[in-house]
Amino acid sequence: MARERATFADRHPGSRAAYQRSDHLFGRVPMTWMNKTAGDFPVYLATARGNRIVDVDGNEFVDFALGDTGAMAGHSPAPVVAAVTERVQRGLATMMPTEDAAVAGAELARRFGLPAWSFALTATDANRWAIRLLRAVTGRPKILVNSYCYHGSVDESLIVVGPDGRGASREGNVGAPVDVTLTSRVAEFNDLEGLERELAHGDVAAVLMEPALTNIGIVLPDDGYLAGVRELTRRHGTYLINDETHTFSAGPGGATAFWGLEPDVLTIGKAIGGGVPVGAYGLSAELADALSGRGDLDLVDMGGVGGTLAGNPVSMAATRATLQEVLTDAAFATMIETASAFADGLIRIIEGYGLPWSVSRLGARVEYRFASPAPRNGTESAATANAELEDFLHLYLANRGVLLTPFHNMALMCPETSLADVARHHEIFDAALKELT
Ligand code: PMP
Repeated sequence: MARERATFADRHPGSRAAYQRSDHLFGRVPMTWMNKTAGDFPVYLATARGNRIVDVDGNEFVDFALGDTGAMAGHSPAPVVAAVTERVQRGLATMMPTEDAAVAGAELARRFGLPAWSFALTATDANRWAIRLLRAVTGRPKILVNSYCYHGSVDESLIVVGPDGRGASREGNVGAPVDVTLTSRVAEFNDLEGLERELAHGDVAAVLMEPALTNIGIVLPDDGYLAGVRELTRRHGTYLINDETHTFSAGPGGATAFWGLEPDVLTIGKAIGGGVPVGAYGLSAELADALSGRGDLDLVDMGGVGGTLAGNPVSMAATRATLQEVLTDAAFATMIETASAFADGLIRIIEGYGLPWSVSRLGARVEYRFASPAPRNGTESAATANAELEDFLHLYLANRGVLLTPFHNMALMCPETSLADVARHHEIFDAALKELT
């Protein structure tokens, strides 16, 4: 690790200098997460195109991080650049609709099966607003999530199943407004009994979940689990929100279309804007009608749903172009084929060294965990984390021109990711394991 740290420092003098010049940034970075890096400072971006990044020192990387899914469409895809460039010159922040939004909404409806769409700037906000709407419509106070989920900086979601089996604040939760058990319930992923026990209290407005966990490794659903969730939520009068921000990797209609799911609300963000900030939520016809009929809810001013720049012309032009021209059915077919090759190769290498690790894939997204068989819920998966080993692998790869997401052992394919890029990753990964073992 010391050798890799030294190599990193040698390869990145410009990034180090830039970091040292950032005295007036909190933590020296524009956003505190950018300090999550295996080196002693972050790599500074010069340019990014497709699945290639060049840093300020001229180092080129094959990028499997893709902005933690923000760039699943590839960096600066040409149709998005063209649409945004054209739009940017004709008004940025007017709080007036443009017709791109209706086209994007129709495309989201076609893909995900929900008819009524609204836009935010982040997936976090899409989740926050969906939660508010479902609290309002049910009159119930609580939201249920899965232990070790991630849905953005949403207060209600920062809850885990504690050692005694009851809900507890997630470690490190910053400045919770109230004890999270007042607003939330929690169940393990793949645990229908636990879910039923919690829903039976009758106070849960909505279950907010990813159809597969993707922020604590990839935890895939057991056969019948998602159907069971739908049946239980219906039986207990609880709405179901599928957060497809990451599981969109499963295909053009995300996990919802891939597994034939029927959520009442779907939230998404990141990739649908091709890198331009956007979030969105889609409502069932029944919910849209129920909400429109509620004169007591202030949906057009300061009632707590919406934002000044949400639905802005640039986000809408970018979303339309991304959905219509970049993350198409054909693009997903290629991305998923590449990801399959990535996963197969990874399994072969890991098996070659006899390591008790597992590989999970969800469409275009592949991740390995330091446990086999693959963990079945968030708590099990969290217990297999090994920060030192993760840092070593990230740094070893970065020093040889390959980027993985700092938060994961995750590799995501974009339309430009090639089999040669996969082979390059695997060659370096193999060399890292050879040294380790
Ligand atoms: N939902 C999921 C499933 C996510 O993974 C994330 C971010 N990692 C979010 C929501 C929040 O996205 P953002 O940070 O863009 O608001």
